[in-house]
Parts: sequence; C-alpha cells; structure tokens
Amino acid sequence: MSKATNDFEIAGRVSKREVNWEQLLHTAIESSSHGLCVFDGRSRLVIGNEQHRCLYSLTSSEVSPGRSVEDLLKGRHARVVAAMENVQSAGYLAAIQRGEEFQTTYELQNGSFIELDMHPMSDGGFVERHRDVTELRLAELRAEAARQELIEKQYAIDQAVIVAITDVRGTITYANDRFCEISGYNREELVGNNHRLLKSGLHAPEIFRQMYRRLAKGGVWRGELCNRAKSGELYWVDTVITPQLGSNGKPVAYMAIRVDITARKKAEAQVYYAARHDALTGLLNRAALLEDLLNRLAHAKASEQELIVYLLDLDGFKWVNDTLGHAAGDALLKQLSRRLKSVASDGDLIARLGGDEFAIVQFSSGEAREQAKRLAITLLEIVAIPFSFEAQDVSVGVSIGLAFAPLHGSTASELLYKADLALYRVKAEGRNGYRFFEEEMHRNAQSRNRLVNELRESVARGDFELHYQPIFDAKTLQPSVMEALVRWRHPSQGLLYPDRFIGIAEETGLIEPLGRWILRQACADAASWRKGVKVAVNLSPEQFRGPALFDVVLRTLLETGMSPDRLEFEVTESMLLQEKEENLLLFRQLKNIGISIALDDFGVGYASIGSVVSFPFDKVKIDRSFTRDVVNKPASRTVVASIMTLARGLGVQVTAEGIETRDQLEYLRSQGVDLVQGYLLGRPAPAALSECISVSLVERAL
Ligand code: C2E
Ligand code: CA
Ligand code: CA
Repeated sequence: MSKATNDFEIAGRVSKREVNWEQLLHTAIESSSHGLCVFDGRSRLVIGNEQHRCLYSLTSSEVSPGRSVEDLLKGRHARVVAAMENVQSAGYLAAIQRGEEFQTTYELQNGSFIELDMHPMSDGGFVERHRDVTELRLAELRAEAARQELIEKQYAIDQAVIVAITDVRGTITYANDRFCEISGYNREELVGNNHRLLKSGLHAPEIFRQMYRRLAKGGVWRGELCNRAKSGELYWVDTVITPQLGSNGKPVAYMAIRVDITARKKAEAQVYYAARHDALTGLLNRAALLEDLLNRLAHAKASEQELIVYLLDLDGFKWVNDTLGHAAGDALLKQLSRRLKSVASDGDLIARLGGDEFAIVQFSSGEAREQAKRLAITLLEIVAIPFSFEAQDVSVGVSIGLAFAPLHGSTASELLYKADLALYRVKAEGRNGYRFFEEEMHRNAQSRNRLVNELRESVARGDFELHYQPIFDAKTLQPSVMEALVRWRHPSQGLLYPDRFIGIAEETGLIEPLGRWILRQACADAASWRKGVKVAVNLSPEQFRGPALFDVVLRTLLETGMSPDRLEFEVTESMLLQEKEENLLLFRQLKNIGISIALDDFGVGYASIGSVVSFPFDKVKIDRSFTRDVVNKPASRTVVASIMTLARGLGVQVTAEGIETRDQLEYLRSQGVDLVQGYLLGRPAPAALSECISVSLVERAL
C-alpha cells in the first residue's frame, strides 16, 4: 500500500473522532515528507503543502488555494526538463476527468527528479503526492550505466580473450565465441567435452600436475600453453586459470581466460631460430651446438651412454673461394650440409662452426670407436664426390678430428678442444683423413703453446741467427748467391732449425716481425760482401698479406745501404694462389727497383706451369726431391727435363738445390742448369764463415 494512502487514512481517522479535522488535516499534510496537494471536485486546489511548493520552487501565490489544476500544471511544467512518461497536460487532465490513478516522473531543471502520484477521491476530488526520487533515480541510472559498461566489457573480453569454464574434472561447461573460433570446434563440440580435447602434446605432464596442485589449493595459475585446434594446427595462449570456490573452500569450477599469443610465439620462434642457426646452410651455429652439446652430455651421463664428437674442416676450401669466388664457396657449403644431413642419424646434432668448419655430435649405439670410424669413412667418401657449381665440378677434401665423452672430457669445450687437436693432427699429417684424439696430442699442444710464448719473447729480443748457404754458377762454380736460412737461438734448447718454428711463426703472425728482422739482418750482412755476390731471402706467403711489404723492403734497403740488385727473394707457389692481382703488382714493384725473384721448391706445388708463365720470375729452383732421385728415377729426370724446356722458353734461370753427390751435380750440369746448391758444395754456415768455407768446400769437392 502506498504511503499516500496511509496519509489519507490518518486524515480519515482524525475526522471520525470529530475534532477540528481541517486543522489536523492541515497539520498532517504539512508534516508529510512528501509534497501533497488536495483538489476538490472542480479540480481546484484545496491545500498544497510547503514541501510541494519547495520541490518545484513555486511561489506562494502560484499555489494559493482555489487555483485550478491547469494553473498548477503550468507553474510546474515551467520548471521541468522532461517528463519521464510522455505526459501532456491533456493526458493528466483526462485521467482526472475519468477518475483514474495517474503516475509520472518529472526531471526538473535543477537536476532533481520528482515522482507524481495522483489518486482520485470518491467526491470527484483528487490528491497529488510529489516525492523526490532524485537519489533513487540516480542510483538507477548508475546501475544502468554499470550494466551497460559490463555488457561492453564482456563484449570486449569476448572479442579479445578466450573464456572457458570447466568443472573440477575438466569438463567444459562454458565456451565463449573466441574459444570456438580459435579452437575450430563449435560450442556443442566443446561443452560437455573434457578440456584434454585441446591438448597439444607439447608440454611435459609435470606442467599440468603443477597447475592442478596449485588450483586445488585455491591458487591462480598463469602460464603459456600450446593447444591444438580441431584442424590439428597449434596455437599458443597466455592462460590465467582461476578456481571458483564452493562454500567448503574447495574449487567447484575453473575459469580460464586465455589470450592468443600465437603471433608473438611465432615471432619469438623466428628470432630464436635465427639466433641458433647458420643463415647459409640452416645448420646449427656454434653457440647452439655448445648449448645442445651441454644437454646431450647431461643426458649421456644420466643414461650412461657415450657421445661422439666429429669435427670437420674442409681441405682446399680456401682455394675454391679464392679462385672460383664466394658464390662457388657458398654453393659448396650448402651442398655439403645436405650431404651431412643425409648421412647423419635423426637425433644427431649437425653444426657449422664457421667458415669451412663443421661438427657432428651423436650418441653411440654400441661400440663407439667402430661407429665413429664408420661415419668418418662415410664422411670422407661423401666429401670426395665432386660438388657442382655452374656446371663445373669442384673438389675438396676433409680432415676429421674425433673425441669421445666421457672418455676424453665431460664438458662441451673440452670435447671440442680435443676433437680439434685430433683434427690438427690430421692436417699436419697431410689432410683428408680422420684421427681419434690421443693424450699425446694434448701434451704436444701444450709444448707447442710453450713454444709459441717462447718464440714471441725471442722475436721481441731478436734471439735469431742467419746462416748462409752458397749457390754457385754451374759453369764456373763461383759463388753467385748466398741463401739466408734462419736459426733460432732457443733459450734452453740450443739452436733450432726453421722446420721447428717457421710454421708456428706463420700461424701466429709472428712471421711478420721475424721476417723484418731476417730481411734487415741479411741486407746488413750482405752489404759487406764482395759486390758480385747476391743474398737470397726466403719469404713466407703470410708476409705478402697486406701492402706493407714493399715499404718494409724499401726502408730496409735505405737503412742498410744495400743495393736492390743484390737482393733476391725466394717464394713458394702457395703464395701465388692467393690475391693474384695484388701479388702481381707487388712483384712488379720489387722487380722495378732491381730485386730478383726465385720460385722455390718448384715442381711440388699445384700451379706450377701457369704461375711461372704469368709471374715475372727470374729463377726457378728445382725442388730437392727431384735432385735426390735424378740419378736413378726416370720420372725425376722427366720432370727436370721439362722444367729445363719451360725455363729456356721463358728465359728463366734454373737452380738445382739439394745436391749431395757428384753424380747429381754432373747430371744436372749436363742438363744445363744455371746454378747449383747443396751440401756437396756448401752447407749453411754463420755469415762470417760461410763465404770462405763454401769456396774451399767446392774446391775440395771437385
Ligand atoms: P728451403 O728454402 O728449401 O731451404 C733449403 C733447406 O734445405 C735448408 O734447410 C737447407 O739447410 C737444406 N739443404 C740445403 N742443401 C741441402 C742438401 O744438400 N741436402 C739436404 N737434405 N738439405 C739441404 P733449413 O735451413 O732447415 O730450412 C728449411 C726451410 O725453412 C727452408 O727451405 C725454408 O722454406 C724455410 N726457411 C729457412 N729460413 C727461412 C727464412 O729466413 N724465412 C722463411 N720464411 N723461411 C725460411
Ligand atoms: Ca729457399
Ligand atoms: Ca727449396
């Protein structure tokens, strides 16, 4: 029952007691918290309370008794913004006329809301109750706005995230549109099914055990999971699962909110892939190999398995790059990586460590050495098959070093180091083969390291000597050239020969300062010799790298006062293989100032004929090995004969080196060689002695 009715009942009861009801009615009406107006049967105001006047901010005269309802409506409507029900004065008046109840809400210009109830009375009059419903109305509006916001948020959530609710056993009870969309299942297929339906199989069961442990305790789980869609495609979701707890505090359902992160995961995977793989061949790179090898080692240890590490280094790859260009080199590396994959087993790691260096790591499945040997031989075979580049065949070889875990080491770097030592040995023994690591290699490497350090110190101090070996005119047997041969005055091992340290000096770059020392010393020594005798200085291929050589030579000549036409350089063919153009230029520069150049060890290298033709040599030195066999091996005679023919054709002088017997000397002289050298005629000796000793030796020998 409405409050207005109550107010009138009070008024009614008062009148029955026959007191001054008019007075009481007045008091009752005035004390009401609502605005009240009473109209008589002719719709004229009998009484309107103060509250009513205040609600609408009406003046006393606007609400004086006797005013018509129309007047009042006019006054009120002047303050109204809008009526909630589309109330026209006409509609209200009609209701009054018909004696029907009427209700509406006004929004006033001052922002308040007034609810109007009209109740007809039996005498044809009526009562209006005006109630301030501003608070109520605002609360309603707020609730409506909140509801609207919720709907919008829900919509946004549904657009952005995947929502699923499951019961405690994982049966899906709710799936939003996004869930259906991303999983490819329709709602009927999802709801009622277990969430396992979407399992990708990518995660370890432990992840899910952890998840359920956490959820069962009422905790929230968050993580990145991979799910499988109906199509079989995988998608990644960042997942937050919240348990909904029942009255006993135990979960009754789980709500999962997931965000699709497949694109991010893909991008991450691409970055990860690029960081771990060699761009050219697609094989693992060095960093990835080290990382994976670490895992394999742990696994091998746990399962008591052996690991085999193969380290491969191509032989002759640099030659391919230098002569055929980098495109050829790249093509070869790609073809090689395919061949490696074809012979390796599924789980093997195959990596390109850089340049022409590769590694394979595999678990042993039985006798490790036998297995390693088999694959090593296969590797040698597959590399031996020529590679093709622009319809031409390109051949390289491969050297393979092998190490085993746990036998040779338990860390990745130790195993690679040891396989590298084995590889180094293969290279030293002539390449294109394989070797297992042996402890002795390690000891060797250590003593080599010691030697490198000592050499470095010695180069800084100049602990070297030059010995000179004479080269004679074959006809007159007069000394023509003195070849400088370096010796190392080692602090503890005495005098060391070049085969012990020149290779190390070349590998470590020490050949450059050492070479400068040799050149200066040779020039300084020769400056004091008889004018007719030249000095020959051996140059390592490494000394040709960079443009500095010519400057060094010029400076040395100036500083020692040596005449350039008394200086001869001996170079080997290997030097001719690299940067041909630059070397040719350097050759011309040297020759232009009067220096002569001899091609050393001729006949044993690759590029023999071609290089003699295209480089302006003054001399070739027939290699010792031909001299040795020239008396009794027809093949060596053939080589000597063809070298003579070639040299005469080009107008180049020929030196025969390594002459130890008179027979060799006589034969070579008879073949017309221009110059002769060897122990028979003179051994290398310190500068002060060499000239007189050599002359006397020659006299004695002949
Ligand atoms: P190489 O330039 O072919 O020098 C000739 C080598 O043969 C010298 O050995 C010499 O002592 C040796 N020899 C000379 N006559 C005979 C002979 O009748 N019979 C035999 N069996 N050997 C003979 P050495 O001094 O031990 O030098 C070895 C190599 O070390 C040289 O071969 C050269 O390649 C290199 N080398 C020597 N000195 C220098 C140098 O100052 N700079 C550079 N870069 N390399 C050098
Ligand atoms: Ca030489
Ligand atoms: Ca030689």
